[in-house]
Amino acid sequence: MAKNRFKLLIVEDDSNIRSFVRTMLEAEDYQVLCAADCASGLSMFSSHCPDLVILDLGLPDQDGSGFITCVRRTSQAPILVLSARTTDDDKVSALDMGANDYVTKPFSTAELLARVRSALRNRRFDDQDGVMGETFDVADLHIDFARRLILLDGREIRLTQTEYNIVTVLAHHAGRVMTYAAIIRAVWGSTDEGSVKKLQVNMANIRKKLGERPGERRYISNELGVGYRMISDNDS
Ligand code: CA
Repeated sequence: MAKNRFKLLIVEDDSNIRSFVRTMLEAEDYQVLCAADCASGLSMFSSHCPDLVILDLGLPDQDGSGFITCVRRTSQAPILVLSARTTDDDKVSALDMGANDYVTKPFSTAELLARVRSALRNRRFDDQDGVMGETFDVADLHIDFARRLILLDGREIRLTQTEYNIVTVLAHHAGRVMTYAAIIRAVWGSTDEGSVKKLQVNMANIRKKLGERPGERRYISNELGVGYRMISDNDS
C-alpha cells in the first residue's frame, strides 16, 4: 500500500498555513513535501516529481505564477493554487498558465481535501479534454481524436489501445517534453517499478509503426533520461 501513496508538494511561505495543510494531508496518508519559496519549490519539484502541487501565489522570492510557468515546461502534474487573492483575473491567469484548480483562503479542510482528490482523480483524463481541437497534424501525421484514427501519409496506422493513448498524450502536449512519469500517469494512472520499461517497449513499437528508425527525430523525440516530446509545427 505504501508505495501507492501520492506524493504532494506544498509551496507556501506562511508557516502556519504550511503546517496546517501538511498535517491535514498527512492525516489522509499522503506523502508531503514542503517548500517556503519559489526557488526551493522548483528544486524539490524536479528532484521529487510530486503527483500534485499545492501552491501559494504570494511567495517571497517570486510570484507563484513563475513556478507554474516553469513546471509546465516539463510536467503536467496538477497544480492547485492556494491564495488570498480573490479576483477572477488572478484565477484565470493562474489557470491560463497551467494551474488545474484554485482554492481561496480561508478554506476548510474538507474543501481542500476534496479538491486534492479531484485533481488526482482527473489528472489522467486531462489529456483527453480536447484542448487542442479534434485533430492533430504534423508533417504527414494526422490524428483524428474523435474517431481514434491515426493516418500517416493518408494510410491508417494500427496502434494498440495503449500505444494510441501514449501518442494522444504526447500530441496533446506537442512541443513540450512529457516526463516518463507524466506519460505513465496519464496512460496507466499509476507507476510501479516496470512502468518506464513498459513505456519504452510501447514507444519502440509506436516508432516502428510510424516508420521511424532509431535515432531519427521525425515525430517523437526521445529526451534521454527525461521523457518524450511530440514535435509540433512550431518546431519545424
Ligand atoms: Ca504567501
